[in-house]
Amino acid sequence: MDCIFCQIVAGKIPSDILYQDDEVVAFPDINPAAPTHLLIVPRKHIPSVAHLSKEQLPLIGHMVEVANQLAKERGVAESGYRLVTNSGEDSGQIVPHLHIHLLGGHRLSDKMG
Ligand code: AMP
Ligand code: ZN
Repeated sequence: MDCIFCQIVAGKIPSDILYQDDEVVAFPDINPAAPTHLLIVPRKHIPSVAHLSKEQLPLIGHMVEVANQLAKERGVAESGYRLVTNSGEDSGQIVPHLHIHLLGGHRLSDKMG
């Protein structure tokens, strides 16, 4: 198990777990790109959204639900936030375990690509 997010999910690498349930875990990004930068990941190792089966699609909905809740708790729901998920090389994905970035707390870049 050399996946860094699987190790965080398993508690083998310490992280500040902000939320967890049977399906997902959320923790701060180690290299924040915004004042609020959290990661929402499934417990199950799925490489990216490109690898979600039809049966697994509700999982991404639940991840968005958790992200929305964390945005409220962190006080960025009113000011606004961005949810991002990378898939594959051109996206710049560096951790091949599905995750949603929750970014907020300042005016985010207008650049989308
Ligand atoms: P991505 O480019 O979408 O794969 O982003 C992966 C993110 O994981 C990056 O923003 C990293 O800063 C973050 N990251 C890598 N290792 C850790 C870690 N041990 N704990 C928290 N975040 C991490
Ligand atoms: Zn993993």
